[in-house]
Amino acid sequence: MLRDTVIIGAGPAGIFTALELIRKGGPKKITIIEKGSPIENRRCPKSITGRCINCKPYCHITTGFSGAGAFSDGKLSLSPEVGGDLPELIGYDTAEQLIRYTDGIYLEFGADQHVEGVGNEQEIKEIRKRAIQAGLKLVDCPIRHLGTEKAQEIYLAIERYLQDQGVEMLFGWNCVDLRMEGSRCTGVLCQRASTGETLEIPAAHTVIAAGRRGADWLNSLCEKHDILHKPGTVDIGVRVEVRNEVMEEVNRVLYESKLIGYPRPFKNKVRTFCQNPGGFVSQENYDNDLAVVNGHSYKEKKSANTNLSILCSHNFTEPFNQPIEYAQKIGELTNMLGAGRILVQRYGDILDGKRTWQKELDHANVRPTLPDAVAGDITAAMPYRTMTNIIQFIQAVDHVVPGFASTETLLYSPELKFYSNKVKMDDRFRTNVQGLYCLGDASGWTRGLMMASIMGVRMGRELAALLG
Ligand SMILES: Cc1cc2nc3c(=O)[nH]c(=O)nc-3n(C[C@H](O)[C@H](O)[C@H](O)COP(=O)(O)OP(=O)(O)OC[C@H]3O[C@@H](n4cnc5c(N)ncnc54)[C@H](O)[C@@H]3O)c2cc1C
Repeated sequence: MLRDTVIIGAGPAGIFTALELIRKGGPKKITIIEKGSPIENRRCPKSITGRCINCKPYCHITTGFSGAGAFSDGKLSLSPEVGGDLPELIGYDTAEQLIRYTDGIYLEFGADQHVEGVGNEQEIKEIRKRAIQAGLKLVDCPIRHLGTEKAQEIYLAIERYLQDQGVEMLFGWNCVDLRMEGSRCTGVLCQRASTGETLEIPAAHTVIAAGRRGADWLNSLCEKHDILHKPGTVDIGVRVEVRNEVMEEVNRVLYESKLIGYPRPFKNKVRTFCQNPGGFVSQENYDNDLAVVNGHSYKEKKSANTNLSILCSHNFTEPFNQPIEYAQKIGELTNMLGAGRILVQRYGDILDGKRTWQKELDHANVRPTLPDAVAGDITAAMPYRTMTNIIQFIQAVDHVVPGFASTETLLYSPELKFYSNKVKMDDRFRTNVQGLYCLGDASGWTRGLMMASIMGVRMGRELAALLG
């Protein structure tokens, strides 16, 4: 049966495409292919086992209905300045309007009315003053915090809504290739992970929204089918964890302090990302067994710590221009040093040029919220340039948040964000291959829930207009 639209990936980008297509009254022969499970079947066994058991065939944290969003912290960044480069493609005003509209949909499905980081003008001024003195930029970004458990409820409601509207959702199916007729994409080829059974799905429009973990696969499709793309950046860094007391002021006033700096001597862009007050450091595993660190926080259950990542953007030109492979090698090396687990080291030990021992972690005020992380030496795997950027940046943040650069501050590694391979598209997300569109984190244009969601909304509107 010919579908109007086939969507690869049931992350925010994919599901908001379907949602908006329905809301705009578009034709309803919509199929979503998702290699993971429906949201109600997604369970990370770590809450029982206490440690990551490297689930096969897929990690439940990043795979299944709502994609990486289900177990994410559920922080919706309500500013076009945050979450990727999409505004460059569609314009800042359009991005702003879409954020307002899409935020309204999250509210309809049960998101908390409260927005963090607004009001408190005088205190924000004081924080910004310290940031300026430290050579950092403070980015304004209101945040709607869904919380991990609430995000799952909201996405479950969306899943049920899509089912009720007749959207076909094929879970446990892996999209392996595009179906091509000459230079036109006419659907996809899929394989069931459990049995190896194959399926061909013809469609008028094919939307790839395969997320960060689908970036490698999309890269191979670009090579095979001559889909135009340009190498983007890859972000390499660490997840930092400190006691809530240290972050008290910025947590209360801003919830998330988005700081950007260009520290000496390299002057590369370094930024904070994904701050989780009272949160938990987490591990996610990619299909190639790479273990990377992340973080999230619940709405109700709180830890004594705040975590956030510090990321350095990396660009290459020639003779080497494979940022994903570069970051993967760093991740593999770090995993090797941690015997397959996430490495953690105290900031003071990095400055002293020594590894961290478990007993030193046991003596500190800050207790790791990722208990299976291994104490060790992250500097043995981190490139000099990246490590220097991180150290300089932490020292600058210490002026804004006194105590941030303490001896006991924890640095987890590897924190890697694979945003490379930016697919070349127009502002309606049309690639050079007719009938093919790319969305969300896999496309290289977004890096967050809200941006991926608004990209889906705009795609839904475009398709509704084309099909209507
Ligand atoms: C632990 C964690 C915390 C996060 N916290 C936040 C946060 O607080 N705020 C924020 O803005 N962002 C956060 N993020 C990032 C955010 O979740 C992503 O930016 C967002 O989910 C991207 O949406 P997407 O639709 O592009 O892709 P994804 O959400 O990654 O979804 C892609 C889907 O495609 C499926 N897929 C991939 N390849 C195939 C294939 N070949 N065939 C079939 N299916 C396939 C995957 O299984 C996945 O379900 C977090 C991410 C993680 C991992």
